[in-house]
Amino acid sequence: MKYAIDEQGYYGAFGGAYIPEMLYANIQALKERYKELIREDAFNQELDQLLHDYVGRPSPLYYAARLSTHYNTRIYLKREDLNHTGAHKINNTIGQILLAQKMGKRRIIAETGAGQHGVATATVCALMGLECKVYMGAKDILRQSPNVARMRLLGAEVIPVHSGSETLKDATNEAIRDWISHPETTHYIIGSVVGPDPYPDMVAHFQSVISKEIRVQLQQHTGSPLPTAVIACVGGGSNAAGAFHHFLDEASVQLIAVEAAGKGLDTGYTAATMAQGSPGLIHGSRTYLMQSPDGQITEPYSISAGLDYPGIGPLHAHLYVSKRASYLQATDDEALQAAYRLMRLEGIIPALETAHALAVLEKESFMPDDKVVLCLSGRGDKDLETYIKHKDDEQD
Ligand SMILES: *Cc1c(COP(=O)(O)O)cnc(C)c1O
Repeated sequence: MKYAIDEQGYYGAFGGAYIPEMLYANIQALKERYKELIREDAFNQELDQLLHDYVGRPSPLYYAARLSTHYNTRIYLKREDLNHTGAHKINNTIGQILLAQKMGKRRIIAETGAGQHGVATATVCALMGLECKVYMGAKDILRQSPNVARMRLLGAEVIPVHSGSETLKDATNEAIRDWISHPETTHYIIGSVVGPDPYPDMVAHFQSVISKEIRVQLQQHTGSPLPTAVIACVGGGSNAAGAFHHFLDEASVQLIAVEAAGKGLDTGYTAATMAQGSPGLIHGSRTYLMQSPDGQITEPYSISAGLDYPGIGPLHAHLYVSKRASYLQATDDEALQAAYRLMRLEGIIPALETAHALAVLEKESFMPDDKVVLCLSGRGDKDLETYIKHKDDEQD
């Protein structure tokens, strides 16, 4: 595995564990137990069973005939939108909750911005009967009230964070503070391939079920497990990491990640970390992030709350500098148009995050015989209001 993490927790120059000393023992114990458990048959069988019976895996790989005709190529959609709770995030929270249970943890904490990771965490805590506290910026609580209601219905306590800009990065600081105060009893579930080692590798491992299934399903569809290209949107980068994982060492497979350009790259309203960011430290790891000249993290913007993150996982920083994957951008408007197109051509309402990946089909051209796999990371029920509001701008 040329693109695998090394013993010190780095992908090339990126990653590591830049954490307060008080968490060192915790992180070390987590790393050791995680590495042991993923080698144990009993753990993997239990995980597979839950993925099958509770999440509904394998998710279909769907040949999108009308979308394919429209773009004159062959397009396959990996239907993570059909998972329980409507997105890929549950693949990770199911894995981590099982790990927490095996480590004897009784208390789960998480932070959330849009609320999607909070809901996926509250769901698995209810499933396992574990206490769940979700830190969330006070501003985000107001903006994302349906997800706050969902978390509370599922039995989680949502804790408003009033410090700083009252958004995701402040909620993250508060979650880390909580973990420092309760290291023995508590497991911290991080929602993407970000954070200190071992999180980026662990989350990528749990999400890698996506590309494991794609290989088998594409073999059935086409007689070969390898596509021409894999396309996925990136916020922190977990659905992309999962969709890329089993193709990283297959040089013939083009890997395309799509960031949210927001209102446009040079407008100051963007979440395009690779296009606008530079290396630095965020959330306990060395990676690319959007920062001011004096190193302050800048507030990201995107129409899609799930891509509204100022950093990106260290694996992606490595794939970017090593040129293994390309990082493209789509604006709010391009994403909206792509979403409306999918609705009309295929009868699927995608999440706004996913719509950014779909927007790339307008920019990249593929050959008629190419096989393009696109990770349909989530469903658009949560985004209905936005879609309705912008409907009059549809350009068809
Ligand atoms: C959270 C979310 C994303 C972005 O997170 P990644 O870690 O980059 O995958 C993408 N799509 C959907 C549907 C989401 O809920």
